[in-house]
Amino acid sequence: MAMADMRPPIESGCPDGFQYMHPTMRRNFGLWKYHTDPKPGVLRHVAESGEEIFTVKVGTQRILDIFSLRELTSIGDEFADGYIRFTIRSNIEYYVTDEAKVDPLIEAVEKLGYVVGGTKNSVTSLSHTQGWLHCDIPGTDASGVVKSMMDELIDDFKSWNMPNRVHITTSCCQINCGGQGDIAINVQHTKPPKIDHAQVSNVCERPSVVARCPVAAIRPAMVDGKPSLEVDEKKCICCGACFPPCPPMMINDAEHSKLAVWVGGNHSNARGKPTFQKLVASAIPNNPPRWPEAAGIVKLILKCYKEDARDWERVGEWVERIGWPRFFELTGLPFTKYHIDNWRGARASLNASTHIRF
Ligand code: SF4
Ligand code: SF4
Repeated sequence: MAMADMRPPIESGCPDGFQYMHPTMRRNFGLWKYHTDPKPGVLRHVAESGEEIFTVKVGTQRILDIFSLRELTSIGDEFADGYIRFTIRSNIEYYVTDEAKVDPLIEAVEKLGYVVGGTKNSVTSLSHTQGWLHCDIPGTDASGVVKSMMDELIDDFKSWNMPNRVHITTSCCQINCGGQGDIAINVQHTKPPKIDHAQVSNVCERPSVVARCPVAAIRPAMVDGKPSLEVDEKKCICCGACFPPCPPMMINDAEHSKLAVWVGGNHSNARGKPTFQKLVASAIPNNPPRWPEAAGIVKLILKCYKEDARDWERVGEWVERIGWPRFFELTGLPFTKYHIDNWRGARASLNASTHIRF
């Protein structure tokens, strides 16, 4: 077919970001000379042309109502030429070309109860998956864990008091989204699913559910004369992968769905390859509304990291240098048999590399 006859593609992805960029950023795209950090939460970028722009980073509660959004955007209209951006960690960033407007802008957001920080060697806002708000399979409310934890880490967000940047993530189920963080708080199911046999034949496509199990622990079965499923509990690794395609395989449990803390993950950095995070604390109570046990462990790890790491060492690099036995000594976290990955099928079936493969 000649090019002239081809239908243009229907674009349904992200809109072009350039149209939303501050004009100073658009003009100097790819032409930045250097940047400095005047104070926590503020970046100053200087372009080859001599133009400069200040970025003010403000932490939000992540799930924003329309009234808060109106307040925050009107501050953008007043001080930042009407240009804002949300970061992947739900911070709002204001772009200011006039240095004299930086402090009044900070004063205006702080007056509304927001915090400025999250740059350089601070604890950034925690990133999290959707939780109860948008997803149908969570075992905890990730946004609730994040809000309560950030309330406790607010001083580490507002100041540069860590050896290097600390990224923390939370995931609300055990199998799907979620990221590699310096510290990650993830759901951990500890019991096999309970099956509601009366519902299976109405709701589930049994062959897909059987195929979904990574350890082949699910078999078709007849229960009370109705087609259903059964689980070999000795094989089941309590991953929860059968729950999304078959909600009657109930894995979430107020008592037995716990949290686990993992440490040392990194997508990659300038000095090293990507690294997987490693389990350091398991079976932590999933305890809303403030999750004090999980927050306590994260604060303990941060305290040891702050005291013991060298300047500019990330959490994973610090642990690799001192060794995992020393990490457990310093933090006082118990090292148990659950920290050892001894599942013999892992080598053949689990992704053992951090590199993306297609
Ligand atoms: S981590 Fe799991 S439960 Fe949470 S939003 Fe992603 S898929 Fe849903
Ligand atoms: S929880 Fe995971 S391992 Fe257990 S039966 Fe379901 S899919 Fe299989």
